Amino acid sequence: MLSTLNHDIVQEKIISDARHRIVIVGGGAGGLELATHLGDRLDEKGQAHVVLVDRAATHLWKPLLHEVAAGSMDANEHQLEYVAQARWHHFEFQQGEFIDLDRARKVITVAAVNDEEDVEILPQREIAYDTLVLAIGSVTSFFGVPGAARHAIAVDTVTEAERFRRRLIAACMRAQNRIGEPAGQKNGRPMVNIVIIGGGATGVELSAELRGTAQVLGAYGLHHLDPRRDIRITIVETGPRILPPLPERIANETASLLKKLDIDVLTGEKVTQVQKHMVLTAGGKRLPADLTVWAGGIEVPKVLADVGLPVNKQGQVIVSQTLQTIIDRDIFAFGDCASCPWPEKGKSVPPRAQAAHQQAGFMYQALRRRLGGKPLPVFEFHDHGSLVSLGRYETIGHLMGKFIGRTVLVEGTLARLLYASLYRQHMVALHGIMRMLLDTLAQWLRRKTTPRVKLH
Ligand SMILES: Cc1cc2nc3c(=O)[nH]c(=O)nc-3n(C[C@H](O)[C@H](O)[C@H](O)COP(=O)(O)OP(=O)(O)OC[C@H]3O[C@@H](n4cnc5c(N)ncnc54)[C@H](O)[C@@H]3O)c2cc1C
Repeated sequence: MLSTLNHDIVQEKIISDARHRIVIVGGGAGGLELATHLGDRLDEKGQAHVVLVDRAATHLWKPLLHEVAAGSMDANEHQLEYVAQARWHHFEFQQGEFIDLDRARKVITVAAVNDEEDVEILPQREIAYDTLVLAIGSVTSFFGVPGAARHAIAVDTVTEAERFRRRLIAACMRAQNRIGEPAGQKNGRPMVNIVIIGGGATGVELSAELRGTAQVLGAYGLHHLDPRRDIRITIVETGPRILPPLPERIANETASLLKKLDIDVLTGEKVTQVQKHMVLTAGGKRLPADLTVWAGGIEVPKVLADVGLPVNKQGQVIVSQTLQTIIDRDIFAFGDCASCPWPEKGKSVPPRAQAAHQQAGFMYQALRRRLGGKPLPVFEFHDHGSLVSLGRYETIGHLMGKFIGRTVLVEGTLARLLYASLYRQHMVALHGIMRMLLDTLAQWLRRKTTPRVKLH
């Protein structure tokens, strides 16, 4: 099935008097970069009309969410208004959730938008397309574990990350004032127990950020707990080690760093149930939890399967290497929501910001060729390695690529700079180099004049 379009990539010339309508659904790490490039280069010259649809009004690069959850980053300083970006870069923005697709009529349906008081501000709409690009990303998968969706927080959106931060501060204050029933006490001392389910990059990075946050909150007098002794952070991982996709050496070094930060790591423990104040594992462990975070896997919103697109087990739309769906050449999908072959490794391209960024660049070139009636190129993923940030304590990871020829371990300042450069690349794609430099300077100056952690 996957190869049905691979050998048939010559595109029919698009014959249309009116401007070709490119509708991109999802303005995340990939979709917003694509809309910006296309708006700047095609819409402004009248070669196509570009429409971006997102259910939210603002964009925040998703890998920053764990810092927002820990309070070490103020989301307001990094969020971008879609309407403003659309005006600056000559595309149209339509807010609303994508809920339906009519392939015969070539229209999508976008749900009505309500305000905070639940009063409708935008009606349900149909949006016509000539080319549809789906980039709606992924959400946390709870794998059907009883109680997980109800009692664990998933850090998928700014709202959830902010909710977690407020609950963290509340839990610390409640514990020090002994209000309610703290999930656990040690030798009569109040304790806050945070359980993070999932020892992948997100869980590991969040745990280190939280350790830093607990110390800063204490320094500002928001709690009088001992940040190391009274705030217990535990990572629970099903596999035999943390950071499963990364080389073992990096996982081991990270595990020793976590140990130094007094972060407990339980490996080989499958979570079987999440209760309000307890996490239960198949190995019989009962972990007290004031706050439980689920960082254990992803799935794609069901809407893509519901509208009849072919999907895999995780709900990702199956696409060929041209990023076209295997049933409709006018529909493309990329980023986390797509399963794109990676023939070199015999698997799919991993759901990472790095891949979404590369695919956005590829899609821009591919759509230009499509408009010109030229054959489409095929997407090749270049894995440049992975970096894991342990907040202000350490950054570690590995680099790879055809120029390096082998995997190289990086840590310390170089790793920190490379980690930061991933976000800077995204900012350059959205705003250009000059504004990225100015924004970076402004953020650095703000950091000098505000507390390191958002306190309320
Ligand atoms: C906490 C965290 C840390 C991470 N850290 C890293 C990292 O360090 N490095 C890395 O490479 N990757 C990281 N990732 C993964 C990375 O964020 C994703 O791979 C990347 O964001 C995928 O980009 P995308 O464009 O496919 O989707 P997203 O960036 O998720 O964007 C999807 C967009 O679609 C919108 N949307 C969703 N459903 C609908 C709908 N029905 N209708 C309309 N709009 C919709 C959303 O509002 C969103 O704007 C991290 C993820 C998380 C959660």
